[in-house]
Amino acid sequence: MLRRGLCLVLAAPSGAGKTSLSRALLDEDAALSLSISATTRAPRPGEREGQHYYFKSPEAFAAMVEAGDFLEHATVFGSAYGTPRAQVERALAEARDVLFDIDWQGFRQLRAALPRDVVGVFIRTPTLDDLRARLVARGDDAAAIARRMEEAETELAHQGEFDFIIENRDFETALADLRAILRASRLARPRLVVEGQIGLNKR
Ligand code: 5GP
Repeated sequence: MLRRGLCLVLAAPSGAGKTSLSRALLDEDAALSLSISATTRAPRPGEREGQHYYFKSPEAFAAMVEAGDFLEHATVFGSAYGTPRAQVERALAEARDVLFDIDWQGFRQLRAALPRDVVGVFIRTPTLDDLRARLVARGDDAAAIARRMEEAETELAHQGEFDFIIENRDFETALADLRAILRASRLARPRLVVEGQIGLNKR
């Protein structure tokens, strides 16, 4: 069947396991690629231009906003982040699926820009105490933990806007849930409709 690609948005409070889950899904699924965002924040050790982010000066970022180059953009933790439009539109038209690691503000704008293409998944731990325990286990210091817990409450306040919520109790179950969501979403009717008709291959 012919179909358009889809936008799989993963949002989560920091520490909920989003990065490991998205890496695992990208590794096993050749039809899925990661949307690389632009940001004004400085690269962290080991981060590469064009692989983790496109690193921009505030002026260059503002010029991209002005030119309409972003599908969505938002300020997160004091830095600007945005999704370049061209790479996503090309992928969708070629029936390739795109994974987005963006916050709830980006999800909202992306859904408004591409209403039939976006599937929103919110990943969380069962309780806030579980989240704190994960931040402690990964070695964040006390100040970082306090800040991240505050940010987590903001992110969690928006979970009701997403299509799916995954409670990450253990990695394998959460990954299986994510896989199932992607598989079902690929078969969702709105994405099988090309130019008003359900697309049918000739043979
Ligand atoms: P980090 O700086 O730790 O890589 O990302 C910080 C936050 O910004 C994360 O919640 C991440 O999901 C979000 N983020 C990354 N890229 C984008 C983007 O292009 N748009 C939006 N709205 N948020 C983003």
